[in-house]
Amino acid sequence: MLIVQKFGGSSLANAERMRHVAGIIADAYIEGHDIVAVLSAQGDTTDDLLKKAHELNKKPSRRELDVLLSTGEQQAVALMAMTLEEMGLPVVSLTGRQIGVLTNTSYGMARIMRVDTQRLRLELDKRRIVIAAGFQGYDRNEDITTLGRGGSDATAVALAAVLHADKCQIYTDVDGVYTADPNRVTNAIKLNEITYDEMLELASLGAQVLMNRSVELAKRYGVILEVLSSRERKSGTKVKEVCRKVEEMKISGIAKDNDVARIAVVGVPDEPGIAFRVFNTMARSKINVDIILQSYGKDGTNDISFTVPLDDAENAAEVLAELGEAIGFDHISVDKNVSKVSIVGAGMMTASGIAALMFEALYDAKINIQMISTSEIKVSVLIERSLADLAVQAIHNKFFG
Ligand code: ADP
Ligand code: ASP
Ligand code: MG
Repeated sequence: MLIVQKFGGSSLANAERMRHVAGIIADAYIEGHDIVAVLSAQGDTTDDLLKKAHELNKKPSRRELDVLLSTGEQQAVALMAMTLEEMGLPVVSLTGRQIGVLTNTSYGMARIMRVDTQRLRLELDKRRIVIAAGFQGYDRNEDITTLGRGGSDATAVALAAVLHADKCQIYTDVDGVYTADPNRVTNAIKLNEITYDEMLELASLGAQVLMNRSVELAKRYGVILEVLSSRERKSGTKVKEVCRKVEEMKISGIAKDNDVARIAVVGVPDEPGIAFRVFNTMARSKINVDIILQSYGKDGTNDISFTVPLDDAENAAEVLAELGEAIGFDHISVDKNVSKVSIVGAGMMTASGIAALMFEALYDAKINIQMISTSEIKVSVLIERSLADLAVQAIHNKFFG
């Protein structure tokens, strides 16, 4: 079998963990499998590198950031290769360029365009263990790019897809995907399996366990993922197209996202074209808008509120202030003290009363809902950030208690 394994930063945090992971890789190799192990940077390396950069430049260019951040993964793969060499195993470490991960030119959030597997195949044919740097690629100018936070998951899935791997195993510091973050919700329940669509929603709505782009890729190329523990040897969670129905589960999970801010444009004219101009302004500034609410304001005007990623809040307010001059409005407010809490479940399409149950849980916990958005498989609410963990726990108790 050809197995792609991925190990995240916390699984590689120190020499002892590195040796432990080397043991997992070695065992699979000795069983006779071809192994490509994709690594993240060790522990908090990526955050530490970001801090270093910002000590010297508050707004470093994305290009130089990518040159810097990619070194974390490069260190990790070299060290892991040395660990396996020490165990007497044939091994080679390869960078993003060497594994042929060609991306577009969006530094810091590059998308994989193509993977050239020639070198990978060559090494595998020599029966070497390949230790591949996750998170990084190169663009058509031969510049180093990175894939966005958590991007090693995407590297692993992309390699599994192009190599037609038999398995793609995502080893991490929890033993699978749970109904909520098991490090925050005490009675979270481990799922044996989850569909791509549900996992994609959970990942996009803040469940950090898999990067959303990796789930997108897995769905597109039919790569079955297994999320499992790098600490204990036991089965994890399979992410795949269809799952056996667990009838009593109304939802699959709950996610929290702190990376949001709420923008309100208050007192705009109640006439055609206003919403278009507001959101066209956001689009032209490349700011993603999520939950949108328009309501009647004072004296026949409208208030338009919406959420944006936290880092874009100031920029959004600035460009909207310019637009406001042109269309007339009362004021703009920015609230960074909010979180989005969401429930996800494919069963929502057919069961009624799911949203009501979530709102009841929030009511019982005396938590005010600021905004709501729904789709076929999710309900999200915007609430005060300091209450978000309480909200997740309360909703979890309501559905799974
Ligand atoms: P890695 O370093 O292995 O990439 P991450 O920190 O990116 O690991 O992801 C694992 C973390 O995701 C866990 O430690 C857990 O706190 C968090 N997490 C959030 N939501 C969930 C969930 N629903 N199921 C499992 N883990 C979750
Ligand atoms: N090291 C990168 C990060 O911290 C990529 C990853 O961990 O997957 O985001
Ligand atoms: Mg991760």
